[in-house]
Amino acid sequence: MSKVIIIGAGGVANVVAKKCAQNDSVFTEVLIATRTVAKADKIVAEIKEHMPDSKAVFTTATVDADNVPELVKLINDFGPKMVINVALPYQDLTIMDACLETGVHYLDTANYEPKDVAKFEYSWQWAYQDRFKEKGLMALLGCGFDPGATQAFTAHHAKHHFQEIHYLDIVDCNNGNHGKAFATNFNPEINIREITANGRYWENGQWVETQPLEISQDIYYPKVATRKSFVLYHEELESLVKHFPTIKRARFWMTFGEAYIKHLNVLEGIGMTSIEPIDFRGMKVAPIEFLKAVLPAPESLAAGYSGQTCIGVQAKGIGKDGQPKVHFVYNVKDHADCYREVQAQGVSYTTGVPAMIGAMLMLQGEWMQPGVWNVEQLDPDPFFDAMNQWGLPISELADIELVKD
Ligand code: NDP
Repeated sequence: MSKVIIIGAGGVANVVAKKCAQNDSVFTEVLIATRTVAKADKIVAEIKEHMPDSKAVFTTATVDADNVPELVKLINDFGPKMVINVALPYQDLTIMDACLETGVHYLDTANYEPKDVAKFEYSWQWAYQDRFKEKGLMALLGCGFDPGATQAFTAHHAKHHFQEIHYLDIVDCNNGNHGKAFATNFNPEINIREITANGRYWENGQWVETQPLEISQDIYYPKVATRKSFVLYHEELESLVKHFPTIKRARFWMTFGEAYIKHLNVLEGIGMTSIEPIDFRGMKVAPIEFLKAVLPAPESLAAGYSGQTCIGVQAKGIGKDGQPKVHFVYNVKDHADCYREVQAQGVSYTTGVPAMIGAMLMLQGEWMQPGVWNVEQLDPDPFFDAMNQWGLPISELADIELVKD
């Protein structure tokens, strides 16, 4: 039915490509374009080996997604209906520019972040609203798990369970073990920038700033474990409090083990997480980029990864019956199952599957509408059906408060 371009060939792209290969009645021709084409070739070789029955036709190309004219040529040569951007947040705006110029739809899994400022927010991408609308094109922002599925979970709470949501807690637990002393589960540069930044949550109409990892509590993650979890700032909070104005407080919690925090503290203490370039043997090198080159690639963690992820959203407020209510919507995914299915670890899998689903719902028309959209603005029902069908079954827990005030 549709031709698409996937940009990037890292851990998440690997999953998106393989789920497109499984869903070959929707994704008939797929071009994986990235900076290091050998990585895209490896994904295609694995699809041929592990999914010989897929009818989707895969090709690869080299592209520098920081370069708009290069992207425009790539898109015009291939002629896709949409671009799935699973490169890095730094490339969001150049890829959106190229989509506007060539008249194709756009989807990504993380909001724009300038390379030289440790700051991410939707304002840059929301500023494309009129241009996408005028061209009759859709841009779907942040359609991974968090951001992404967490916003669909919130929309589901609002549509099916609550008159008004007052308190929202997004919880993200990785209870897996990859056996390495220190590694990040997705792009190390983006991940470390996110965790070493100050925390922030929404309360009574304003942002409350915290020190990095200042606030924590033990949270029970159903079917998985009780884990110490820390308040972080996460990008979907920005759009959720905008689109659900009844929310009085919105927080995002993530689990980190003691060893992870110890490594991170040391790396930060000696300056290895800095984005400020230093002079090294006549070259300018940002320490965090060097660190990325030293750390294991996220996709290399997949073989032998054990344990589960559990990501969910707890809402508290006034239920549809007018009574106080608390409700939890979540998914549990096993790392080893992900590896068996698509040679990926759970964090890449839980991001890549919602990205494929978002693209499918756009291409099939259920979600397609001109403009720039966040996931919670769209109907959660077809998304829930597709999550259950494509490997991320959703569970619900009523009347138990997992995250305390
Ligand atoms: P990786 O680092 O594994 O992969 C990134 C890929 O992008 C690499 O193949 C890289 O190429 C490519 N790339 C980087 N710069 C360019 C460029 N200028 N031109 C072309 N290609 C480029 O990251 P992940 O797969 O782990 O993450 C991908 C995206 O998913 C990120 O934006 C991340 O923030 C997001 N994410 C979202 C989550 C969610 O739940 N919403 C969770 C996890 C990740 P090369 O191989 O040459 O370096």
